[in-house]
Amino acid sequence: MFFLKKMVMNLLGRVFFYPVCISAVENVGGDFCVVEMQGDALKKVHWNPGEKMKIRVGKGKERSYTPLFVDRDKGKTKFVIHLHRKGPGSNWASNLKIGDTSHLSESRKSLTFIPSDKGYIFFGDETTIGAAYALKFSQKNTDSFTFVFEVSSLSSAEQVLAHLNMNRAKLVLKNKENTHLADVEKILSEEMRKGINPQLILMGNTQSIIKIRNALISLGCPSSQCKMKSYWSSR
Ligand SMILES: Cc1cc2nc3c(=O)[nH]c(=O)nc-3n(C[C@H](O)[C@H](O)[C@H](O)COP(=O)(O)OP(=O)(O)OC[C@H]3O[C@@H](n4cnc5c(N)ncnc54)[C@H](O)[C@@H]3O)c2cc1C
Repeated sequence: MFFLKKMVMNLLGRVFFYPVCISAVENVGGDFCVVEMQGDALKKVHWNPGEKMKIRVGKGKERSYTPLFVDRDKGKTKFVIHLHRKGPGSNWASNLKIGDTSHLSESRKSLTFIPSDKGYIFFGDETTIGAAYALKFSQKNTDSFTFVFEVSSLSSAEQVLAHLNMNRAKLVLKNKENTHLADVEKILSEEMRKGINPQLILMGNTQSIIKIRNALISLGCPSSQCKMKSYWSSR
């Protein structure tokens, strides 16, 4: 019955959701929910680092999130969800309890992380910490990788990054006028100069990543070296 339903949904081009159990949930630093999900369907999921899954966050409402990893042997996955408190996804995550049932879609393409021996420079925000983790822990020789995040709370972000063993990430505090992006540009262009053609990945808030991409290209960064994926928009 399960497979028949899945086949029909796929034929109709609709997203198929399967049930999973919330096996662990932790509020980290006030701004993040780190949630672990477990279910037999996760033993059969085909996931590549950087791919997303959709989660049902209310009746007829679904939102995209990025697994940190998928452990097919144990049928487990984990997400870091930003609790910005402005929408159903964030509200759903802040009310989760161990033992709750949730509904996950299959893995879907987002930004593919191709192994790069030239290293990575990653810029994102709170929503991309899961993707950054997936990138870091799926590649070899990550010592030269640079992670830079624009965040609303330094202490919350520090706590979640420590929780994920990513303490070396650089943080820049956001402001309403977006003048902090000049600091991000400075850090990224300095890092670009240190490496030999590192791959640049920009993810997260649409307005921020477009601004940073344009600034780096005007400083001479080849556009082919720069990959971009928008996760949400503030407009
Ligand atoms: C491929 C992909 C993967 C993603 N992976 C993750 C992930 O792993 N973890 C994660 O936390 N998010 C992730 N996101 C982002 C997440 O899906 C969006 O932030 C989503 O809009 C949250 O839904 P919501 O219901 O809370 O808010 P919405 O109903 O979508 O939006 C409500 C309001 O909140 C604002 N808003 C939305 N997101 C934010 C934010 N982060 N900060 C401040 N304001 C916001 C919107 O501009 C809008 O005004 C991903 C998005 C994509 C496309």
